[in-house]
Amino acid sequence: SPSELATRYRADFPILDICVNDKSLVYLDNAASSQMPQQVIDRLVRYQTAQHANIHRAVHYLSEVATHEYETARRSLQHFINAREDREIIFTSGTTESINLVMHGYGRKFIQQDDEIILTNLEHHSNIVPWQMLAEEKGARIRVVPINDAGELLIDEYEKLFNSRTRFVAITHVSNALGTINPIKNMIAFAHMKGVPVLVDGAQAAAHIKIDVQDLDCDFYAFSAHKMCGPTGVGILYGKAHLLESMQPFKGGGDMIASVTFEKTTYNTIPYKFEAGTPPIAAAIGFGSAIEYLSKIGMDTIAAYEHELLSYATEQLEAMPGVRIIGNTRTKVAVISFTIEGVHPHDVGTLLNQEGIAVRTGHHCAQPIMQRYNIPATSRASFAFYNTKAEVDALVAGIQSVQKVFS
Ligand code: PMP
Repeated sequence: SPSELATRYRADFPILDICVNDKSLVYLDNAASSQMPQQVIDRLVRYQTAQHANIHRAVHYLSEVATHEYETARRSLQHFINAREDREIIFTSGTTESINLVMHGYGRKFIQQDDEIILTNLEHHSNIVPWQMLAEEKGARIRVVPINDAGELLIDEYEKLFNSRTRFVAITHVSNALGTINPIKNMIAFAHMKGVPVLVDGAQAAAHIKIDVQDLDCDFYAFSAHKMCGPTGVGILYGKAHLLESMQPFKGGGDMIASVTFEKTTYNTIPYKFEAGTPPIAAAIGFGSAIEYLSKIGMDTIAAYEHELLSYATEQLEAMPGVRIIGNTRTKVAVISFTIEGVHPHDVGTLLNQEGIAVRTGHHCAQPIMQRYNIPATSRASFAFYNTKAEVDALVAGIQSVQKVFS
């Protein structure tokens, strides 16, 4: 049964056993970074102990092993999101770099003065700021899809934003601040009907729902390892091969070239054209290991369990006087953003920490969402498949004790 999932896999995560302020850690900050299972930690140790070398150029043993393991990780990512080819997977330092790569590689080449870029009110700053920089440089315009009170995009308004100047759409699959799952498949189909390519920020989706880039038909899809049981410092950009081939490189350096003279440089083929310099080899191999770990459990199994956990938590928080859930839609991943009447979110976070409970408080790098609800900040509990109903109960008890302190 799904409810046994957490108990079954929890033992794989040694960090979940630590105590914080003499209480058992209740880790509910998974949307910022999730934890790594022993299998991934062991994989990193094995690489560092017996396989470490620089990749791609040497003929010696260790370099061949490291290259093989790095390219195997790329294929694990390819299969995880059902990309057509492994050269459509580019290793980056994370979602932020993936989006910046598309802004520089595609945006600076193809977007001109008076062109328009569509974003949504639900974007993380990393899917706003690069596009603003581009708009400023080119004299292009940003258009924004609004949301309703439940935190859902207004799709009619989205469709109305398209005109003959629309050149690009960049939307998040799942909101990091609210948890909303956006109807991206339909949004992509609509954009394509208008001849406009779409980048999807999948940072908050890839750990929680099954991603099939061919089924979605997105042009670009970006996510980070550290939110899905992998290490920091690595992520990917998926891009359709013909688009990646049409783009200019983002960074210049070694490995991204075919030949260099002082007169002229020709670039390597994809994906290497976009992987200048020594990449995060260890982290990429750890990422591959995390993908194998999640795939073994099964993304559908994870999604079903987390949904059960979300319903359980939502029901309890909805019943608490003075607690308001921000963006309380039914189509969500297991994220609950909330406010407590009369208590600043920073105090909520500090007092919960005294109980060993880790939540995030603030604007969640999504200030336009806070502006939309006219609030400075929220507290955010974000769950993973290793969280239990007992931990939801601990959160509820923690909120009650916060309310007592401020009553
Ligand atoms: N987009 C979203 C929706 C996110 O939640 C995050 C991480 N908070 C990012 C982008 C940026 O990811 P990273 O910091 O790993 O580059």
